[in-house]
Amino acid sequence: MSHRPLIGIPAASLEPSPARPARYFQFNGNYPACLAASGALPVVIPLGLPEDALADLFARLDGLCLSGGVDVAPAEYDEEPHLALGKVDAPRDHSELTLARWALDADLPILGICRGIQLLNVAAGGNLYQDLSAQLSGSLTHNIKLSESPWERPTHSVRLAAGSRLAGILGVTDLMINSFHHQAVKRPADGFAAVAWAEDSVVEAIEDPSRRFAIGVQWHPEGMFQTDPLARRLFAAFVAATRG
Ligand code: MN
Repeated sequence: MSHRPLIGIPAASLEPSPARPARYFQFNGNYPACLAASGALPVVIPLGLPEDALADLFARLDGLCLSGGVDVAPAEYDEEPHLALGKVDAPRDHSELTLARWALDADLPILGICRGIQLLNVAAGGNLYQDLSAQLSGSLTHNIKLSESPWERPTHSVRLAAGSRLAGILGVTDLMINSFHHQAVKRPADGFAAVAWAEDSVVEAIEDPSRRFAIGVQWHPEGMFQTDPLARRLFAAFVAATRG
């Protein structure tokens, strides 16, 4: 029997409504499905756990997967909210920033996807564009609507830094990816380097090469897992690192 590494995926809040008076959480099932298909044992982490319980749970994890979702509160990187800031999720920010900082301290493998690259960068001390179209003139359309283009459809190219960990994993330096984001990494955190860029120079991936595995991508490989072997390679490399 092979050992399946345990990989935590923090949940997101579900907005309260009269039909849901209790606290409900949500997650995109593609993330645990891709991790399980790559040989891991995914576990979704509820928000609002007492810190000692969260620490006990963290101590059992072999890796942390930070998934897509709403915007990180700009106060977390010392900025006032821009008018074009989207929704935020304070309990999720708190839980994910805590887990990401523990993972960075312990050098636990981390894969950040979409919001996850942004969260990882903020956790490590970097900052973000709060809204690309408002703050970076001439930027491409990065916030493709899911109603107009499915997860698996690539919509723009990225160029990877030759010699980066990510380029080594994917085995290419140019690829086409999907794009469902209105924010992006502005200044990479100390220790992290930008390793992929769109044509408009928007950062599409970061990594810290000194760590076991600390990579964030701005696209959604979990949405291309069935159709793109490169998406499967990224998950496979992450799961392999969590076994190390
Ligand atoms: Mn993009």
